[in-house]
This record gives sequence, C-alpha cells and structure tokens, in this order.
Amino acid sequence: MRWRPFTAKIAGVMKKSDVVAFFDRLAAGIDIPRSELEYKNPYTLLVAVVLSAQATDVGVNKATGPLFKVADTPEKMLSLGEARLKDMIKTIGLFNSKAKNVIALSRILVEKHGSAVPEDRESLEALPGVGRKTANVVLNVAFGQPTIAVDTHIFRVGNRTGLAPGKTPLAVEQKLEKVVPADRKLYAHHWLILHGRYVCKARTPDCARCVVRDLCAYKAKTTLQVPGKAKRTAKKKPAKR
Ligand code: SF4
Repeated sequence: MRWRPFTAKIAGVMKKSDVVAFFDRLAAGIDIPRSELEYKNPYTLLVAVVLSAQATDVGVNKATGPLFKVADTPEKMLSLGEARLKDMIKTIGLFNSKAKNVIALSRILVEKHGSAVPEDRESLEALPGVGRKTANVVLNVAFGQPTIAVDTHIFRVGNRTGLAPGKTPLAVEQKLEKVVPADRKLYAHHWLILHGRYVCKARTPDCARCVVRDLCAYKAKTTLQVPGKAKRTAKKKPAKR
C-alpha cells in the first residue's frame, strides 16, 4: 500500500500528561477492546489479517465464516486447495494473490513450524503476504505481545491528534512505542483503530462527540451540524440599556 503523507496542520505534539488522559478516556469507553475480525485460533487470525489488506473487516468476516468451517488449520487449507479457496474468498479484493499467499504460507507452516503459527516477528514476516503490520496484529492479538500495528486509521489518528506524528507507518509506530504508557500498550492498537474508524473518521472527524477533543492538536476540528439546518451559533447577549 502507498501511504500519502499527512499534510493537515496540527497545533503541536501532545504533552505526556495529555497522552495518559487520552488513553484513560479511550479505555473508559471500552475496557478490553477486541478485534473486529472473526477468528477461531492463531492460524485463522493470521489468514483473516492477510485477507483484510485493503478490505473491510465486515467483508472479510462474510467470506471467512464459511471458509473457517471447512479450513481452520494449515492442513485443511492445503486440502481445500487454491481453486476452491479462491472461489470462497472471491468477494474480497485482490483475492487471487491473497489465495496464493494463504496456500503458500500454510505449506510453510506445515513444513517448517509443525503447523503452528510462529510467535516471533522474523518468522512471521518471512511468510508470504505477511508484512510488519500483519505480524504486529498477530503478535498482539494471538500472543498478547504489546505491539502496535499501524494501519490507515492509526496513521491518521496519530498524526491528527499530535499523539504520534510521523511521515510513514513505521515512524508513527516507533513514536507510539515511545509515548504510549506501558500499561496501555497491549490494547493501544485496538483503542486507536476503533477511535479512527468510528469517531476520528478520514473525511470528516466527528469532533463534536469526541472524548479527547480538548487534548487533540488538530487545527480543523469540526463542529456540531444539524442536517438541513444552519450551523449553530452562540446566542447573542441582550444589549445593555
Ligand atoms: S477532536 Fe476531532 S480530530 Fe481530534 S481526535 Fe477527536 S475526532 Fe479526531
């Protein structure tokens, strides 16, 4: 994926004390956040994340529901075969290359890793179709490691808010590694994704109902708009007599 640099103006980098408050408030909304991708075990999580590149979680879940009923291990996926796998995931973008990768990585898991998903970054990133972001998600969700995978939502939120400004996903990830409080790292990825997906949205952030509005450094915060009505304005004080 090609990343467009973030060009919107922000007021500055978030202060350390504000970062603590930022995560306290996101955590108050959802204590223990969960991945919106459906999976049954580390292997199906890995497959789901590989399939989710440039696709929505909802779209991936629709295809993987029936798929994981027949193929929830590398051996079963190899028995299913590439042609049938393609047919089962054809509603997901780039399904041809993704099917090839899933079959190839399943073969490597069987031949080199005793059919288990490896718990280290190097081995994960050596699998076809698995980059740093996918490895981070698997390490975090399947194995409870405090990694922070930077996707398009986290890249945007990190930059807009001043929490972790950076020109590339790796720069944002490294900044997040430094600033996120240790006790918030395990779930930071999910809190930031959910915030970006449902509140700090790409086209129009929903600043009026944002719980971190006063901590955020974005200069172009949106205001409450009522459809079909004029923008709300403050009531004029009666003139003094
Ligand atoms: S105030 Fe607006 S720009 Fe800032 S985090 Fe909230 S939704 Fe995003």
